[in-house]
Amino acid sequence: MATGRRGASTAVKDLHDGQPVWSQSTYGTITVSALTKDERCDVLVVGAGITGALTALHLAEAGYDVIVVDRRVPGTGSTIASTAMIQFEIDEPLTGLAKTLGPAKAARVYRRSFQAVKDLKTLIKKHELRADWVDRDALYLAGNVMGRRALEKEARAREKIGLPSTYLDAETLKEMYGFDRTGAIISAGAAELDPMRTCIACLKAARDMGAKIYSPVSVTASEQDGDDIRVATTDGPDIICRHLVMATGYEVSPAIPKGSFDIVSSWAIATQPIKPQRFWRDRCLVWEASDPYLYMRATADNRIVIGGEDADVSAPSRRAAAIPAKSKKLLEKAKELTGLDEIECDYSWAGAFAENPKGLPVFKRLHDVKGGYAILGCGGNGITFSVIGAQIIRDWIGGTSDPDASLFRG
Ligand SMILES: Cc1cc2nc3c(=O)[nH]c(=O)nc-3n(C[C@H](O)[C@H](O)[C@H](O)COP(=O)(O)OP(=O)(O)OC[C@H]3O[C@@H](n4cnc5c(N)ncnc54)[C@H](O)[C@@H]3O)c2cc1C
Repeated sequence: MATGRRGASTAVKDLHDGQPVWSQSTYGTITVSALTKDERCDVLVVGAGITGALTALHLAEAGYDVIVVDRRVPGTGSTIASTAMIQFEIDEPLTGLAKTLGPAKAARVYRRSFQAVKDLKTLIKKHELRADWVDRDALYLAGNVMGRRALEKEARAREKIGLPSTYLDAETLKEMYGFDRTGAIISAGAAELDPMRTCIACLKAARDMGAKIYSPVSVTASEQDGDDIRVATTDGPDIICRHLVMATGYEVSPAIPKGSFDIVSSWAIATQPIKPQRFWRDRCLVWEASDPYLYMRATADNRIVIGGEDADVSAPSRRAAAIPAKSKKLLEKAKELTGLDEIECDYSWAGAFAENPKGLPVFKRLHDVKGGYAILGCGGNGITFSVIGAQIIRDWIGGTSDPDASLFRG
């Protein structure tokens, strides 16, 4: 029985409240098994959210014998609460990141993030995953954090490193998109998807390549056993693996340093379906350089998902209690921005959310077991970061080192 505790035990948290719009989507079910006896594998992935699913798929593709376990039904942690805007633009602008990391490293983060979105599209195409992926542009509006001058500078910095971002002045913005702001950046290379469908589809593709999925299984401890890692679960059986990946989302692995993230809250709504012709130009993703910020995207069934209003609230009861007021605010702000007076709220929900000042994810090797790793995707780009994390961890397991890994140490 494994006794070490540092890397593998995670506290159970209330990750979301209300009703996320994806709870209505037909993402299909994945057959999971009960863990009734000890198992052995090359890699054990703890967590069957989008991060664990992408990691399992990358590892199964690389030929590893993979087991995925989750204490919940796959996807029903934070993944079902995600608004799933897929962007290379991270919460911290390139110009801001250049001040903290230096221009060269900041450029590497942005380029890697751009490549990760492309790689996710390729993966979805290659495995014909039902993800509801649609290529979109992303429109970043001037706000109270970055005004038009700062956005102009940001667009120039991105263009300089080859990213597809262009500054729009107020007049052009109004003419093209109908939005009344002092300026904006329009960027290609973004997308929308259905996070539940994507998560389940990745798990199915991994399973088709031999991965096994067990749920509900809660991992409680891990210890080194020669070259193996012996992982204990609440229900008794152990899983013996060569490598352990903690993809436990905001039920954060103790291996991730406490000072490298904060858990805050975010709120979102989805409107009733609207007439397709009522959408703004190209149904681009919209977000703003404001605090608190607003963002919007379309869904395949013609709803608008509106999110933001992030606040430094970690208590689930306070997060849930704020849903009606936050939903009203999000709807009002979206009406004011789009001029769509007819929109009504159909779904509203709130979720826990990890943040750090750099807006970067944290990928760590576990200290207590050789061959153990942990991933935490902070900020509004958790899914893009999950792709980078899956790639870096696959390479670590394969014995090669990804040159960008050092950018995401926390
Ligand atoms: C409201 C909201 C909006 C968001 N919008 C976006 C967005 O627009 N774009 C974007 O890219 N990202 C967005 N994110 C972030 C993104 O959704 C997250 O980064 C992502 O869902 C995290 O996935 P995950 O697999 O890491 O975590 P989860 O989905 O929570 O999966 C982790 C799983 O690990 C399991 N687990 C934990 N500990 C154990 C254990 N000890 N044993 C067994 N199982 C365990 C849990 O049960 C859980 O199912 C948003 C998040 C929220 C809440």
